[in-house]
Amino acid sequence: MTGFYNGSEINSKLDIFDVVSKRVNLKKTGSSLTGLCPFHSEKTPSFHVNLNKQFYHCFGCGEHGSAIDFVMKIDSLSFVDACNYLINTYGLSVSKISNLNNYRKNQDKFKSCVELNLLVATFFKENLKKSTQAISYIKKRGISGAVAAKFLIGFADSNWNSLVDEFSNKEKKSLLIELGLVIKKKNNDGYINRFRNRIMFPIQNNFGQIIGFGGRIIDNQSIKYMNSPESFIFNKGNELFGVYQNKDHIKKNNQVILVEGYMDVIRLHQIGIKNVVAALGTAVTEKQIKKLFQLSDYQIYCFDGDSAGIKASQRLLKLLLTLNLDGKHISFAVLPSGMDPDILIEKVGPEKFSKFFQDYTITIENFLIKYLSINLDMKSVSGKATFKKNFNIIMQTLPQSEFKFFLNKYVGEYIYKKKYENIQVKFEYKDFINRPIHKILSILYYNDFKIEEKLILEFNKNKSRFEKNYGPKITCAIDYYLKEGLNDKFKSIIEETLIDTQEREKILNIYTNFFKSFKNEEILREFNETFSILISK
Ligand SMILES: [Zn+2]
Repeated sequence: MTGFYNGSEINSKLDIFDVVSKRVNLKKTGSSLTGLCPFHSEKTPSFHVNLNKQFYHCFGCGEHGSAIDFVMKIDSLSFVDACNYLINTYGLSVSKISNLNNYRKNQDKFKSCVELNLLVATFFKENLKKSTQAISYIKKRGISGAVAAKFLIGFADSNWNSLVDEFSNKEKKSLLIELGLVIKKKNNDGYINRFRNRIMFPIQNNFGQIIGFGGRIIDNQSIKYMNSPESFIFNKGNELFGVYQNKDHIKKNNQVILVEGYMDVIRLHQIGIKNVVAALGTAVTEKQIKKLFQLSDYQIYCFDGDSAGIKASQRLLKLLLTLNLDGKHISFAVLPSGMDPDILIEKVGPEKFSKFFQDYTITIENFLIKYLSINLDMKSVSGKATFKKNFNIIMQTLPQSEFKFFLNKYVGEYIYKKKYENIQVKFEYKDFINRPIHKILSILYYNDFKIEEKLILEFNKNKSRFEKNYGPKITCAIDYYLKEGLNDKFKSIIEETLIDTQEREKILNIYTNFFKSFKNEEILREFNETFSILISK
């Protein structure tokens, strides 16, 4: 597609800190961040990054500019290439502008929209001061005046026309319509407020510009949360509520908690848990996740335990598993049905909140196991088989990564470890002859099955049959166990089974004979060494 990139739009969707800190080691000194200038050689830092104004400046060589300028300069890229790099690296959603006039118009329009939103937010804030009902609602939730002001909380009263009356100027009125703050009446006769009788939360982008509004109903009479519709400046899938107020805390803690409601964010902020954001009423998107990945490596995704919350958490789980999760530490907190952090604080008090919250938090791998086990009897063979089949389907969506490798191992071990219930069957040699040895050992081990000498002797007698048909599988299995740490499990089997030294000697001989004839000498040697150590203890 031909056209122009809107540089200021790209810069506005980035944090210059993220871009510069990848290449320059930045330290906080006073109110700004400094580091050694990458554009000239120096021993004491004169390179400054101003987060409020989102530019860098070097007092040594005079280099100066925005995030795009930085990338252009440091990687010798053209403007377009620098834009492409930033768009791809940070998953930004920006559109190209087909001509310069439109570009300027768009910039001006963006500015007018956020300015109007600020006026509307101020209007709602004034309304709040006048409503005893709204004030008491906020007070009841323990929110201080300072925190309410920090999040620009306001109130849309029950009036139908107040916004149109307040902003009667033609240009402003048409922007109000475009931003969805007022909507057309059914009979086409004028416009009415979208938000009525709601606590209003302005939604700010990374730089504090108001791009939309969320409203929480005050009397529980209708839909709990309502948002501005998507508009020229507001894309719900790209933004996160609370990012502007909380991003420094998130970076400092290297941990972020994503919750469902705006009130949750604010209430948690109030009790000192400030590394929290909320999605904007829609399913969490890949773009939002990538934003969170840039802010921190540790993430907790919190959901209400009602059916909608459970569905949302499962959808998010599947989405997360399509991403490369190496270096990330992801957990889920699914609260009991009808509970959200706001209500949990109410119930247990701010002091005990963290402890309770922790109890509901589990790692992504355990969350996956929980999800896959729903409605399955994991103590039965068919339960395990269905579980494994569904797990395999999910595994296909994971990109190659260390995370994938270890997830596979972890879940595999979980399935084997789960004990079968009421195993009465006595295993005999013929039960095993058609199975690879790693399966045999697993069945024996995980069912507390004692290895009887008779059984081992029979294995030994028939080793040629094993090797002929199952040789490669058996050697692979032994190799796998040796490398991946079955040693512990062998050890337990032996310790449980073999009481006296004489018996140990006997078993060692049997095992040694059993494995002696295998062709892969390296595996055999390794096995012998490991096994002798275990048995000689
Ligand atoms: Zn410099």
